[in-house]
Amino acid sequence: MTALDVPRPDWMSEDVVLLEDQSRRFFDAEMVPHYDGWIDEGIVPRWAWEKTGEAGLLCAALPEEYGGAGGSFAHEAVITYQLGMAGLDSFGIVLHNAIVAPYILHFGSEDQKKRWLPKLATGEMIGAIAMTEPGAGSDLQGVRTTATKDGNHYRISGSKTFITNGQNANLIIVVAKTDPAAGARGTSLFVVETDAVEGFRRGRNLKKLGLKAQDTSELFFDDVRVPADALLGAEEGQGFVQLMTELPQERLLVAVQAMAMIERALEVTIAYVKERQAFGKAVMEFQNTQFALAEAKTEATIAKVFMNHCIGQLIAGRLDSTTASMAKYWLTDLQCKIVDQCLQLHGGYGYMAEYPISRMYQDARVQRIYAGTNEIMKLLIARSL
Ligand SMILES: Cc1cc2nc3c(=O)[nH]c(=O)nc-3n(C[C@H](O)[C@H](O)[C@H](O)COP(=O)(O)OP(=O)(O)OC[C@H]3O[C@@H](n4cnc5c(N)ncnc54)[C@H](O)[C@@H]3O)c2cc1C
Repeated sequence: MTALDVPRPDWMSEDVVLLEDQSRRFFDAEMVPHYDGWIDEGIVPRWAWEKTGEAGLLCAALPEEYGGAGGSFAHEAVITYQLGMAGLDSFGIVLHNAIVAPYILHFGSEDQKKRWLPKLATGEMIGAIAMTEPGAGSDLQGVRTTATKDGNHYRISGSKTFITNGQNANLIIVVAKTDPAAGARGTSLFVVETDAVEGFRRGRNLKKLGLKAQDTSELFFDDVRVPADALLGAEEGQGFVQLMTELPQERLLVAVQAMAMIERALEVTIAYVKERQAFGKAVMEFQNTQFALAEAKTEATIAKVFMNHCIGQLIAGRLDSTTASMAKYWLTDLQCKIVDQCLQLHGGYGYMAEYPISRMYQDARVQRIYAGTNEIMKLLIARSL
């Protein structure tokens, strides 16, 4: 059953459709049965990452020479969507596949790509990106972590927080200041292999409102010595430009995750209200239910068409920051609105943990906050006015 029926976009070639189907079957059969346990433990175990790699669902967009499947963002988009449709919103492969790996692919040297990408594609390495600090979230220029040149090495010092995959990750892209006096131009990105350095420490796996199987963590860098070629890019000071180049893709991915949850919320709610009886009839038969779901389906259809358009634009290299920000802000706002409405239609059962809509309600909320808050998205959109 699909709650939404929008025309198949041009980027959905036959192989992408096949991958979509394969992803869904894999997630349902191999991951979903374990998911409740991972929620209790607050982390997805490494074997699940490796198994996902064996299934070809890690780094599918990487060229084959670096261990990927030679796909495009279309492949990452359908894997992301099916992960959401399977309800596995805490499994941090989206960030690993479509955010961490692209930084290395786009800005790494040949040597860096050969060293790290194949291991990301198998799951031997798990990726994270550490931008946020206790004192710097929306305002990334306020980052205080420093990387100081020391002969053939850099010494990294500082602390990061809210880092997705923070307990599992052993390949972390770290945002640091190489020239604290130079503002944005003094920011650089470093790739830290955590197993190979001293002075790196993981802090708490943070307790959260939702995404409970996600090991969102604190990270500490205490004079961590990394080789000079841990720097991403040919020279220092490129960090901000690199971040700005990749952020539209990150924001669109959040929109894709939002859309998947919207569709899943509609699916489970439509099934529920047809089943549940009150006043001698199915809840679906009340006009209020029909109107609420009709409104939700209409907005969801508009959202999916827009999402498909944005994915097509990104694949064509034409997705600008303004449009990506619109997608991130509007779809995540809509996600929270529709999930809330769907929970309401479940009555008290919607509040019970055993009903998927209650977990969706918890997991949805952060979508308006990370990858740039929705207020920051509006600031970016306003620049185009
Ligand atoms: C579950 C989770 C996972 C995350 N994963 C990662 C990760 O993997 N890597 C990473 O680096 N970070 C990650 N983050 C951090 C996330 O990106 C930040 O929380 C986010 O950017 C907001 O920063 P902040 O929390 O410091 O809020 P603040 O910047 O302190 O914002 C507080 C409020 O002020 C508003 N605000 C701030 N500036 C302005 C302005 N100029 N105009 C109007 N309003 C403004 C904000 O919108 C917000 O409402 C994650 C966060 C969470 C919760």
